[in-house]
Amino acid sequence: MKPENDDTDAAAVDRHWAELLAPSRRKLLVNTGLVAAGFAAAGLSAAARGTNQTATAATTAAVKPPHHEAGKSPWGYETYKQATPRPPSVRPGEKTLPTKPRAYTDIKSYHAHIYFDEDSYEKAALLRKWSAERFHVELGDWNLEPRGPHVTPSFYFGFANDLLPIVVPWLQLNSLGLTILLHPNTADPRADHLYYALWVNRSQPVNGYGLPSPQAGKPPPEIEQIYPNTQPNVTIET
Ligand code: ZN
Repeated sequence: MKPENDDTDAAAVDRHWAELLAPSRRKLLVNTGLVAAGFAAAGLSAAARGTNQTATAATTAAVKPPHHEAGKSPWGYETYKQATPRPPSVRPGEKTLPTKPRAYTDIKSYHAHIYFDEDSYEKAALLRKWSAERFHVELGDWNLEPRGPHVTPSFYFGFANDLLPIVVPWLQLNSLGLTILLHPNTADPRADHLYYALWVNRSQPVNGYGLPSPQAGKPPPEIEQIYPNTQPNVTIET
């Protein structure tokens, strides 16, 4: 195939799309007066535009949003006067400083959540394969949609505490640039995801505010259990 033909084809496709898009886009702009304002600002004559009737009429019209609902604000009309309150904590729900540290032995296992998108899914597949070949872990399904607190496609593997000193450095060196959330599993799933996390590479939003957390007078939330399901057959590189 000759390159000139490619160029010609590409130019024809561009022209086709320009012609498809231009009339509707132009109509929309004229209706809101933007075209007229633009032409006026550029000092172009009506004759030069070739759409003198529509554009001239629009020149005198004010630019308005297409719909302007009449109604009453549910907030009243004095919100702008409110004083700035100081939140009790950067951690919503935490009212005072804790009286003592939490016991690290509250952590019963860990999850590693590996995030990916349509451009990085092959990296995720390689990391998934490498992990399953080397670690006895609980490997979950592929999630191609947001699931639970995870807002982008992901998969996870859960692992016992004794693997932590190997899994963390291994993921640091083998993330392939993917964003990875490592969170502990305690009786406070909300805090596990929001406040006790470790990240490999950039962090991303975690929608964990709806997860359960301990409430006074109620039994604590169930602690996530790990049931390894992989059969590692590769000796980890050292
Ligand atoms: Zn998790």
